[in-house]
Amino acid sequence: MIDVVLAAPRGFCAGVRRAIDAVRDALAVHGAPIFVRRAIVHNLEVVRDLEADGAIFVEELDEVPPGGVVIFSAHGIAPAIAREARARGLVAYDAVCPLVSKVHREVERHQRDGRSIVMIGHAGHPEIAGTIGHVRAGTAFVVNSAAELADLPIPADAPAAYAIQTTFAVDEAESIVAALRARFANLIGPSSSDICYATTNRQTAVRALAAQVDAVIVAGESFSSNAARLAEVAAAACGSVQLIANADQIDWGKLSGASSIGITAAASTPECAVQAIVSALGRRYRLRVSEYEAMRETTVFKRLAIAS
Ligand code: SF4
Repeated sequence: MIDVVLAAPRGFCAGVRRAIDAVRDALAVHGAPIFVRRAIVHNLEVVRDLEADGAIFVEELDEVPPGGVVIFSAHGIAPAIAREARARGLVAYDAVCPLVSKVHREVERHQRDGRSIVMIGHAGHPEIAGTIGHVRAGTAFVVNSAAELADLPIPADAPAAYAIQTTFAVDEAESIVAALRARFANLIGPSSSDICYATTNRQTAVRALAAQVDAVIVAGESFSSNAARLAEVAAAACGSVQLIANADQIDWGKLSGASSIGITAAASTPECAVQAIVSALGRRYRLRVSEYEAMRETTVFKRLAIAS
């Protein structure tokens, strides 16, 4: 008998639900095809489901025909992208998560106040590209470790500010902020962390769960920032952690000898992926399935208005 313990909360957050609903609502109001710039959320199963319903995913706006309807992803965009959509005569909806928009407003305020901005996050991630696109080129610097602060071209006595990618690892962010405080005398940051409630809650839950089980499975895509962070947090407390996008990818060798398995899912992973993993485990072992609830989530965002 193997104990399977499901982390709670896990899976879809309010921002991901809102973005997926926006595509479905646009399909209902405008009809297919609806173009989506970049992956609406970082999950291939979600993308394939929406494609089956008539969504077409594109990398750039020049792939959308004139007059086409386009939706921007939950990760947010630089204002230049919205301007390009207007210039091309597209009908555009921005499904950016409200918690990412909040960070956009923060960095804009820091720039107005004449501060250099340190963006704690992963360079190249769409959220970071969108956020630093809200300030003048060359005024925001991306770092993802305290070691990278040494290369910052900002004098120690200059007015500085920091912002954090919403899906960054909570513990790592704390250590980078501590290093920033040690370096800059005039530093400000968000009143509460930019790391969103969903990231914080899922990391808190998996940290506690990983300490209680022999192996952890994180359901999510390897290119999803919040999935990768969940796997890192779990690995700090458990010696056998695997990040898999679906049940076909289970590494059975990593489960050998385990009498308890914890499962969590990234904020962009649908619950059906978790249930498919449990079913696959059930075909091989006798299971006792329970849930470890670290906290209850009630956050819901208002649906994006889609006009006819
Ligand atoms: S992970 Fe956080 S910031 Fe990203 S969409 Fe979900 S709630 Fe919004």
